[in-house]
Amino acid sequence: MTIQPPNSEHIRLCPDCGAQLLTWRSTKEIACDGCGLNLFLNVAAAVAVIIECGELLLFAVRKHDPYRDMLDLPGGFVDPEESAETALSRELQEELGIDVASARYLFSSTNKYLYKNILYDVLDLIFLVNSTLSILWVKPDICEEQWEFFKHPAKQEYYHRHNIGWEQVLSAFDRGHPEPYPRSSLIRGIPVSLSYASYDDYARYLAKAKRGYRINYAKMEEVLQRTGTLTLKAPIIMRCGNEALLFSGYRRLCLAWNYGIVPYVWLVTLPQL
Ligand SMILES: [Zn+2]
Repeated sequence: MTIQPPNSEHIRLCPDCGAQLLTWRSTKEIACDGCGLNLFLNVAAAVAVIIECGELLLFAVRKHDPYRDMLDLPGGFVDPEESAETALSRELQEELGIDVASARYLFSSTNKYLYKNILYDVLDLIFLVNSTLSILWVKPDICEEQWEFFKHPAKQEYYHRHNIGWEQVLSAFDRGHPEPYPRSSLIRGIPVSLSYASYDDYARYLAKAKRGYRINYAKMEEVLQRTGTLTLKAPIIMRCGNEALLFSGYRRLCLAWNYGIVPYVWLVTLPQL
């Protein structure tokens, strides 16, 4: 019994003489009994890249069928006369707009790719790329954050409970210092309210955030991806006793976290009254 080659239903006419006299010699070889043509459907080469970004792996979301809207490794088919490395650079530039300084070959894997009824046998060459995106954190400006103190509805209770006045914030601010703040709800073991450290919390926050919030986030993200580096004012965390509050900069914090970058925050310790 012969096994039906995967594309035999869709490839019936000889591409040279047009006769319907094709014989499949194997799953990849067609012969025409009319003109003697031999046609090989060889394995197609494709590159795929695993992008490591700090503690995260970055995936792409497929824009087109097949498998639209599903997660995918960035990459694509190798063009004729192109090396795998060149294909990788081209695909990453086309798909993500990023330049890759160096990629390390990891392994290969067989794959099947169905496109418009034709099933392609593919050899995927998998590469690893380390993201070199970075953010430079500079000292924030407390005077730009008056709204956070006087108007932000979710923070008023904290100030009242700890009896904190604006003058106190101003005088404590310069004694603050930069402190790394990995994705966490704690800083130096102290819980930080309003910092929404988990992905789920962030997604909930984003869903109800105003449009301007998302636009500004997208702008920062665009610059970071395009230039590879970004200078941002450090978010501010206020600490009073055993309670801390994210005072400002949640968007900047999330940008760093979402790219696996550990942000620096400006940690301000307020005296307990
Ligand atoms: Zn023929």
